[in-house]
Amino acid sequence: QCANVCPVGCITEVPEWESVKAAVNDPDKIVIFSTSPSVRVALGEEFGMEEGSFVEDRMVALLRALGGDYVLDTNFAADLTIMEEANELIRRLTSSNIPIPQLTSCCPAWVKFVETYYPEFKENLSTSKSPIGMQGPTIKTYFANQENLDPKKIVNVAVTPCTAKKFEIRREEMCSAGKTLGIEGMRDMDYVITTRELAQWARAEGIDFLALEPAGYDPFMGKGSGAGVIFGNTGGVMEAAVRTAYAALTGEPVPDDLYDLKEVRGLAGTKEASLTIAGTRLEIAVVYGTANARRLLDSIKRGEKFYQFIEVMTCPGGCIGGGGQPKDKNFSGDGLRQKRIDGLYARDRQMKLRLSHENPEIKAIYKNFYEKPLSPLAEEMLHTSYIDRSSDLG
Ligand code: SF4
Repeated sequence: QCANVCPVGCITEVPEWESVKAAVNDPDKIVIFSTSPSVRVALGEEFGMEEGSFVEDRMVALLRALGGDYVLDTNFAADLTIMEEANELIRRLTSSNIPIPQLTSCCPAWVKFVETYYPEFKENLSTSKSPIGMQGPTIKTYFANQENLDPKKIVNVAVTPCTAKKFEIRREEMCSAGKTLGIEGMRDMDYVITTRELAQWARAEGIDFLALEPAGYDPFMGKGSGAGVIFGNTGGVMEAAVRTAYAALTGEPVPDDLYDLKEVRGLAGTKEASLTIAGTRLEIAVVYGTANARRLLDSIKRGEKFYQFIEVMTCPGGCIGGGGQPKDKNFSGDGLRQKRIDGLYARDRQMKLRLSHENPEIKAIYKNFYEKPLSPLAEEMLHTSYIDRSSDLG
């Protein structure tokens, strides 16, 4: 799957669950799992469940059974990403010296693709870190403080659909908590294990996934909105950001059509839409796959296309089709991807909380810690910069 579409060689699967198990068995360590949106619609397939089954409660129970001290939801950090990214978009739209379009930056394979092949667009990449990039430093500062934990003892483990995240967490810039706290060499996120690795670990421990009693996330950073849920599929980041940007720009309730932004949904490789928000025309595009992204960037360079905000994911269908997800055993292709996407949208529809900016835990973190989106502390911990890697091409 993902390995076949990665053009930059950053997607390789190096199993890490045995290192995580060693941390679990070390009484001096506090192991905190954080789960990405699309793991919960794919993990069940590893245990014979129907494709796209929504298994959030059992997945949390499994992580507790494997010895996690805390289980948190990366959907919380997806909401945080939306708060920062939507406000960054507004800043770009209202400022003359920051380039548009804003390009999403939550896919590390896409970020590395831009750095390598289109460095002239690196200032267009959103400076907002990915959800995992925000979850890590926030756990080792805000969460550690709330729970009275020593950040040096925390072992942060991201459970993701994504092999490229193994590269992302090891980028030099991903040490913000250590820099803020003055702890040298402390990484924000310590390990990434994929959906498949999690299933391997469960099997190695002889855990009967289907027999697990459902369990819930820990509070403080354990609550995400429906907007955070749909981060896991193509178009989801765009839809989530547009909901929050609308509220920030107008101060009005989000209208019904923005809860179901059909133009950016579905498995087409490139989707476009024009929206009017607070009298401003917003031209947006949603793309997956680097061939589609390359076509789009080239058309922008030639002056044929104009957008203000573009979402790009490398994997087919977004993270639900990530390289660390269960293999497509039935060769269902888009059929499988659509079932996983349906699982996420169904969850979003069921939720009362569907807006990142209305998540009470997000409101609390800004009140008690980050102050407001794009504040100096938020810039230090939640934002990053990019490098020109074109010389790697020789
Ligand atoms: Fe990872 Fe998602 Fe990007 Fe695929 S689309 S490389 S799973 S972040």
